[in-house]
Amino acid sequence: MTPGKFIFKCTDCGQEYSCNDAKYLCPECSMDNNTSVPPRGVLKVIYDYKKISEILKDFSGLKKNNFIDLLPVDDISNMPPLRVGNTPLYQTEHINGNRLPFTLYLKDDSQNPTYSFKDRASALVSAYAKENNIGTIVTASTGNAGSSLAGICASQHQKAIIMVPEKAPMAKLIQIIMYGAIIVPVKGTYDEAFDLSIKATEEFGWYNRNTAFNPFTIEGKKSVSFELAEQLYFNIPDRIFVPVGDGVIISGVYKGFEDLLMLNLIDRMPVVVAVQSAKSDNLVRNIGRKKFEIVPSSTVADSISVDIPRNFFMTQQYLQHHGGETTTVTDEEIIEASAILSKNTGLFAEPAAATAFAGMLSYYKRGLIAKNSANVVLLTGSGLKDIKTLEKVLKMPESIYPTIENLKRIFS
Ligand SMILES: [Zn+2]
Repeated sequence: MTPGKFIFKCTDCGQEYSCNDAKYLCPECSMDNNTSVPPRGVLKVIYDYKKISEILKDFSGLKKNNFIDLLPVDDISNMPPLRVGNTPLYQTEHINGNRLPFTLYLKDDSQNPTYSFKDRASALVSAYAKENNIGTIVTASTGNAGSSLAGICASQHQKAIIMVPEKAPMAKLIQIIMYGAIIVPVKGTYDEAFDLSIKATEEFGWYNRNTAFNPFTIEGKKSVSFELAEQLYFNIPDRIFVPVGDGVIISGVYKGFEDLLMLNLIDRMPVVVAVQSAKSDNLVRNIGRKKFEIVPSSTVADSISVDIPRNFFMTQQYLQHHGGETTTVTDEEIIEASAILSKNTGLFAEPAAATAFAGMLSYYKRGLIAKNSANVVLLTGSGLKDIKTLEKVLKMPESIYPTIENLKRIFS
């Protein structure tokens, strides 16, 4: 690593560390962490923005170098050979036949190599490991981060060890195994798998990709904001709806725009809306509260079903500092939103991703979206990853003998 390319700054105490003095959480703040509340001491990656501005005058300069100046690695060739990010942004003008009075963009991150947004984080963690000759990476996951790390590691010839709650959706478990990773199903929750993977890191020395615990997960996810800024011709959207579980994707979104703001490449931050399921709202419900209270989560949106949001404190800081908003939607609204999205746009999103769309629909219904405003919904994963939830609510027609008479009966 180029000395001084970046430093870590603790979200909680503000202490700065060189990249050699810290790797995961702030050593000071994490000392008293326990497994019943969100961890303290999540680190943020800070660059020498003044120096970068002097060398690179505009966005195209950054882009030409594949944003290496704003990444904690030295050589871009250590990134996976797969196409990560650069996902499409679609504009939708109608919903259910009605013309929308505002502009709506959908960022389709199901188009990543393993079909979820998580590839942005896995790619950077994998590149860092490759650059530092680390061969084994472990992660705890509700499914998507695990299948993502497994796929990215397969492309980089690295060993991935994935700890998942045994109830994770089958498609994600199959993906992990197909990519050749070692899967460890855990009898327990995601939170218990998370804690086990950290113990494994201490015991076996494996590099840990756990979300927020590894600061590069947030850093990797910020690339979405660089893309959005460019795709929207640097007209910063009025609102970005983001599905929230641990609070890492939303922090990544903020971090990307924050980097651009620090470099004077944009003039304001967007309003980011944190959308959670009402059945897994431990992040938004605790914002601004003195004592963190956990309500066990039980949402159909498994990717954002989290009891202890691992990036709670950083997310809270971002939301409070930049005028972010929060909302919850019911599981019924999530499933309904998933159907509305698919039928109106041809984009089939998993329930977690549909949660963000449901949040936008809820804002729309409540008259909270200004006419002519520009809004983005982040679609974080493919619907094919979790069809079991939908199987329960869909009605599959009975099969027919292949005669034209039977068809006539259907269409009469
Ligand atoms: Zn600290």
